[in-house]
Amino acid sequence: MHYFQMVGFNGKKNLKLLMGDTSTGNLKEIDKRVLFKRHVEVINLELSYECNRKCDYCPVSFSDRQNSQSYMKENLIEKVCKELSEIRYDNKISLNLYNEPLLDKKLADKICTIRKYLPAAHIGFNSNGDFLRLPLLKDLSNSGLNHICVTLHPLPNVNQDNTIIQRRLLKILKRLEYNFIDDELDISFIELNNSFSCYVEGVRILIQWPDWRKDGTNRGGTLENNSAEVNKRVSPCARPFREFTIFYDGNVQPCCESFHDNKFNLENVGNISDQNLFDLYTSKKLNQMRRSLYDFSEKTGICSECTVRDFSSYSEDKSRKELLAEIKDFSIPEKIDCQTKFD
Ligand code: SF4
Ligand code: SF4
Repeated sequence: MHYFQMVGFNGKKNLKLLMGDTSTGNLKEIDKRVLFKRHVEVINLELSYECNRKCDYCPVSFSDRQNSQSYMKENLIEKVCKELSEIRYDNKISLNLYNEPLLDKKLADKICTIRKYLPAAHIGFNSNGDFLRLPLLKDLSNSGLNHICVTLHPLPNVNQDNTIIQRRLLKILKRLEYNFIDDELDISFIELNNSFSCYVEGVRILIQWPDWRKDGTNRGGTLENNSAEVNKRVSPCARPFREFTIFYDGNVQPCCESFHDNKFNLENVGNISDQNLFDLYTSKKLNQMRRSLYDFSEKTGICSECTVRDFSSYSEDKSRKELLAEIKDFSIPEKIDCQTKFD
């Protein structure tokens, strides 16, 4: 079942509101909070800037993120947490976008803050695993972390065979003093699987080795030659409905694919230092983007060649177009027929 099928009670009305329907008047503050609570399943909250790697399928490879660090201001982290606590947010929070979270020495303290405000949220992050050690994992576990996904990225322009993957996987598990392996992690396991998961110190550790050179996306068009297939996208996308993406400087983008650094600001939705999360989530910019992503039609801008998978079936297109036709957006002025007006 995909996201749009799971949007339960009042789903169609809410979807129309999230695509800018103003036929019942402008949204009240409480309506915005209800929409956020019901529809956002993942918050991407990037707490720091730098990454120590420069994978050839990642825009960090040509960004100053390789060699300069900065951190989300602590008052902004607190602001996000307070706002989310107003709706008792209890879904996922992912503490990375294009950074390596373990380069942040204060990460455990920041997770403590998030956990204090949001006791039921599921807190996790992706990491390249280079700095993951047992004492650090213990601190993170004590702070309230639930999950780390470690990706065994290959070095730039180096092919990583199964023997190297096996060696790296076992090295990480050894550093974490995880001793329950037997012979299961032999070469045939590496060949037949692309991940291994276990619990250490109560934290779920998922270690994965996908082939991002083959299956990677073009990150909002910043990686023109790095996409599984370069075709015009027509399929829908649920991400700006179900995700809310905040970068290190408080900048909000429509999804995690929209790369942002000191140079790129592809689809600026706004900044959490000026507006609350709920106003940003129901902003005109995101409403219009969601409207263009709801049906099967040619996509534009950062979405035009994006290969992020969507599970919608083309058989749903007719009913989606009917729903789009019902949207009345009185915030967009009627087109003026200049000929009639000035004749
Ligand atoms: S893919 Fe991850 S580890 Fe590699 S450069 Fe990008 S952010 Fe860093
Ligand atoms: S189509 Fe791609 S770029 Fe566009 S919103 Fe979805 S994930 Fe982001």
